[in-house]
Amino acid sequence: MKVLDSHHHIWKLNNRDWYGWLKPEMTKLYKDYDIKDYRESIEVTDIEGSILVQAADTHNETLFMIKESIGSNGLVKGVVGWFDMVTEIEIVQQLVQSPTSNLVAIRPMLQDLPDDNWILNENLQPMIQLMIREQLVFDALVFPRHLPYLITFYQRHNPHLKMVIDHCAKPDINGLSLDNQWCQSMKWFATNTNVNVKLSGLLTQIQNIENKTDKEIKDVLYPYFEFLLSNFTSRRLIWGSDWPVINISNHSLSYWLQCSQSILKQLNCTQDDLNDIYYNNAKQYYNLK
Ligand SMILES: [Zn+2]
Repeated sequence: MKVLDSHHHIWKLNNRDWYGWLKPEMTKLYKDYDIKDYRESIEVTDIEGSILVQAADTHNETLFMIKESIGSNGLVKGVVGWFDMVTEIEIVQQLVQSPTSNLVAIRPMLQDLPDDNWILNENLQPMIQLMIREQLVFDALVFPRHLPYLITFYQRHNPHLKMVIDHCAKPDINGLSLDNQWCQSMKWFATNTNVNVKLSGLLTQIQNIENKTDKEIKDVLYPYFEFLLSNFTSRRLIWGSDWPVINISNHSLSYWLQCSQSILKQLNCTQDDLNDIYYNNAKQYYNLK
């Protein structure tokens, strides 16, 4: 089965100033990760294309990713970049007009901003209008507490702005029952919008994963997959690895690929459904060439 990985990163320690969150004590992440390393991690998989996602709040990283993707021999099909959404309209405009740029989305890292309601800032309007005109996707990196603001934001732009909720909005998946507030907000998006959800980042949310068996891990994930599949359907879920961040879960990209597929099959996904989740949806929603 062809797979398109909608979410991975690269970074170089030489540029460590860009990544405020990357600390030496994060031993599994504090090293260079480049396209060659990514190629090695996907060697045993059917991944044939990918989307590179920003990890720093500077457009210099975005320009670096675009350059790297051009040199990737067609492996990287798109870049989700970062820009100052109030002041950097011009550079985005130039990039969307450039034939060599493959910028497909913007991600403002909402989860790390001091104000949970930053997204409601009126000064973002010109950039949002540009994104709508150019069909750039808004990648929302949020926690459940941001979802009510994201709903208000989306109500203003629905149905024109394309939006993907990263990592399923990182629900607290360690409780005995589904997080109620998360469920309600996600149901709102499922019912009232065409927003897509990235099926990624969930393994790193599981506590004590190093002591859990494969079955125990799947038991934690199953109700979330069930909820997301029944509400968003296979047409609005987009698989991503979140490599190399996935390494902190003690499991590999290929484990996540197999684990997620096996849960989806248990939930009666057909091969067509899987083709959508693992390939077609990302290609269509992000307008990949
Ligand atoms: Zn990520």
